[in-house]
Amino acid sequence: MLLPEEIKNITNKAIEIRKNAFSFKSGHSFGACVLTTDGEYFEGVNVEGVISSLGVCAEMAALDHGVVHGKYSFKAICTADDNLTYPCGACLQYLAQFSQVNDMDIEIVAVDMSGNYEIKQLSELLPKKFISKSFDEKIKNFNK
Ligand SMILES: [Zn+2]
Repeated sequence: MLLPEEIKNITNKAIEIRKNAFSFKSGHSFGACVLTTDGEYFEGVNVEGVISSLGVCAEMAALDHGVVHGKYSFKAICTADDNLTYPCGACLQYLAQFSQVNDMDIEIVAVDMSGNYEIKQLSELLPKKFISKSFDEKIKNFNK
C-alpha cells in the first residue's frame, strides 16, 4: 500500500517528466514513474517513432529506466496524462512479468495534470495476466 508521501512523490515525478515526451507525431505526451520496492523512483516518457511500429510507451520506458539501474522489483507505477489514464494492455502485461519477481501485486496510479489521482491494482486491471511458469524461477532468482 502506497504511503501518502510515496503518492506525492510518484505523481509529482510523473507529471514533471511528461514535458520531455518525444511525441512529435501525435502531440499526446505521457509521463510515467515507477517506485521500486527499495524506495527509488525512475521516470519515463513516451517516445514516438517515424515508423509506426517503433516507439515506446512512457510506462515501459520508466520500467526500463529502473532495469538500467539494476532494479527489477517494483511497488508502483504512475501514469500522468491530461485525464486519468491507465497503462495500455501491453504495458500491463510488461508490468506483470515484474510482478513475478516477488509475487507482489503492483499499484497503478493514474494522475491528471492537476494532481487528481486514482489507484488500482495490477490484478484489477489485468486479472488474467499471462505468467510464464517455465520462467518463474529464473525471473525470481535473476541477478540474486
Ligand atoms: Zn503502453
